[in-house]
Amino acid sequence: MRCPFCAHDSSQVKDSRPTEDGATIRRRRQCESCAARFTTFERIQLRELTVVKSKDRREPFDRDKIHLSVSLACRKRGVEQEQIDQLVSGIQRRLETSGETEIQSKRIGEMVMEGLQQLDSVAYIRFASVYKDFREAKDFEEFAGTVKDLFEE
Ligand SMILES: [Zn+2]
Repeated sequence: MRCPFCAHDSSQVKDSRPTEDGATIRRRRQCESCAARFTTFERIQLRELTVVKSKDRREPFDRDKIHLSVSLACRKRGVEQEQIDQLVSGIQRRLETSGETEIQSKRIGEMVMEGLQQLDSVAYIRFASVYKDFREAKDFEEFAGTVKDLFEE
């Protein structure tokens, strides 16, 4: 694991324990070069998931992206980091155990909204309004595309 402070590529594990939900191992590490301490999280990946964004846009499932948007939605709401981790882990686990390897991005959006709804109402509204605007913009884009197709010379 590369040190985030000096980029040295070996570190010593000082402490290692599972997080509350048991899905992740938390490791305290110390850089062997600059002695800085940092924490890493290791998780089991059950299967490779692909996110289907549109007919011809696919990308590998990226837990960090979901984590980031959930964290931003929860900003200054007093939601614990642990709760955010649990929400994202829950979504990931449900997807991984669903038996499917291709997941519609829309479905992930809905799962995030579902989770936020139970966690914090303001965070939910923040996420939902951005998500809804985005869907509408996308719908409009598609609509504009079809009109363009019809009349383009
Ligand atoms: Zn270092």
